[in-house]
Amino acid sequence: MTKIAVNFASADVIQKPNMSEVIIETGALLNINWAHVTSSGGEMVIDVPDDKLEDVVKSFEERGAHIQVLERLVLKDDEKCINCGACISMCPVGVYYYGDDWSVNVKVGVCVQCDLCVVQCPMGALELKLQD
Ligand code: SF4
Ligand code: SF4
Repeated sequence: MTKIAVNFASADVIQKPNMSEVIIETGALLNINWAHVTSSGGEMVIDVPDDKLEDVVKSFEERGAHIQVLERLVLKDDEKCINCGACISMCPVGVYYYGDDWSVNVKVGVCVQCDLCVVQCPMGALELKLQD
């Protein structure tokens, strides 16, 4: 699976059933990780099967969306982290959780790369890095 961010910048576009049309047109099973829609546009992060990526990107773009392939992973520096839990509360998709020993753990493959935790971590323990 590959994560992509789909951005519609106009209200006109988000009032149409774009997601359903892309699924029907490409035959790809798309999983929505996160979505934020307002009266003036919308953004969502979805998982796309690798063999359908090109078709799905093209199909969304034909409907006026801007697409960004998300290739970065969130990394936590355990030497810097003080397990304060701030990232647990701020992450919109639940990447962080406390383990049995009350240390903060990271769920791999869930991050939608919004950058919020990287900016807000009081210890500068988090970063988003390109996958190898
Ligand atoms: S916000 Fe930073 S210091 Fe606090 S638990 Fe998360 S990674 Fe660790
Ligand atoms: S960048 Fe941080 S806050 Fe945003 S989704 Fe990824 S882990 Fe969560």
